[in-house]
Amino acid sequence: MSEIPNNHPRAESLRIRHRIIEGMDRNVVAKAGLIAHGRGEAFDYLLGEETTAPAKKAIKAAAAALLLSNYPVISVNGNSAALTPKEIVKLSEVSGAKLEVNIFYRSPGRLEAIKEVLEEAGAKEVLGVGETADGEIPEISSVRRVVDRRGILIADTVIVPIEDGDRTQALRKIGKTVIAVDLNPLSRTSQLANITIVDNHVRCMPLLVEEVKKLKNASKEELKKILDDYDNQKILGEVLELIRDRLTEISKKGV
Ligand code: ATP
Ligand code: MG
Repeated sequence: MSEIPNNHPRAESLRIRHRIIEGMDRNVVAKAGLIAHGRGEAFDYLLGEETTAPAKKAIKAAAAALLLSNYPVISVNGNSAALTPKEIVKLSEVSGAKLEVNIFYRSPGRLEAIKEVLEEAGAKEVLGVGETADGEIPEISSVRRVVDRRGILIADTVIVPIEDGDRTQALRKIGKTVIAVDLNPLSRTSQLANITIVDNHVRCMPLLVEEVKKLKNASKEELKKILDDYDNQKILGEVLELIRDRLTEISKKGV
C-alpha cells in the first residue's frame, strides 16, 4: 500500500484494487472476482469515480426498503467482503439485516475465509456457512442455489452487491425485493433489481449506513412515500444520461 503515492492520479482506485488482491491472497476473492472488479472499474471511469445524484436517490430508496422490510438479508460474496467488511457489518447492525455468505466458486475453505473476515470486522452471526446452509432456490441452476434456511430462503429483501444476473433474476422470480450495488447500469443485475445503486461498493456502503441511520426514526408512511416516489427505470436512465453528457463534454474538451 505504501508504494502508492497519494498524488498518483489513480491512487484511490489502486488502493481499492489492492484490497481485492489481498482478498485473493486470503482465499476470500475468487479468480473470476478479479475480472469482475476490472469490469466495475471500467464503468467507474465513465461515472467519473464519484457517487452521482441518481445513485444518491437509489441509496435513499434502499435505506427506506431495508427499514420497511420484515426480514432483510445482506448477501456477501468474496469481493464485497474484501472491499468493505466493516461497513457491511455496520449496515447489518443499523438496519437489522442478517449477513449471509453466498458465493459462486465454492472452493475449499472460501466460505469459512469470508465468514472469518466478517467476524474480524465485528460480525456476531454469519449465515450461509455450516449446517443451516441447506436451503435451496430451485430457480438457480448453479451451486449458488444453496442458501441459508435462516437467511435468504425466508428473507423479504436481499441486498446483493457485485452480483451476477442469473441470481438476481432468480431472487426476483421467487418474490424477493432485490437491492443491487453495481457499477454497470447495463448489467442484467442492474436492469432486474428493484433498486439499483449504480456506484462503487466502496463509496456506497458508508453512505447507505448513514442514510439508514438518518431514516431510522422516520414513520412508516414517510418510508413508504420514498419508495412510492422511486422509479428504478428512471434512475437507470438518469445514470446513462449522465454518462452520455460526461462523454460529450470530454469528447470536446478532453479529460
Ligand atoms: P450480469 O450477470 O448482471 O449481467 P456481468 O455478467 O456483466 O453482470 P458479473 O461478473 O456477473 O458481471 O457481475 C459483477 C458485476 O459487479 C459487474 O456488473 C461489475 O460492473 C460490478 N462490480 C465490480 N466491482 C464492483 C464494485 N467495486 N462496486 C460495484 N459494482 C462492481
Ligand atoms: Mg454475470
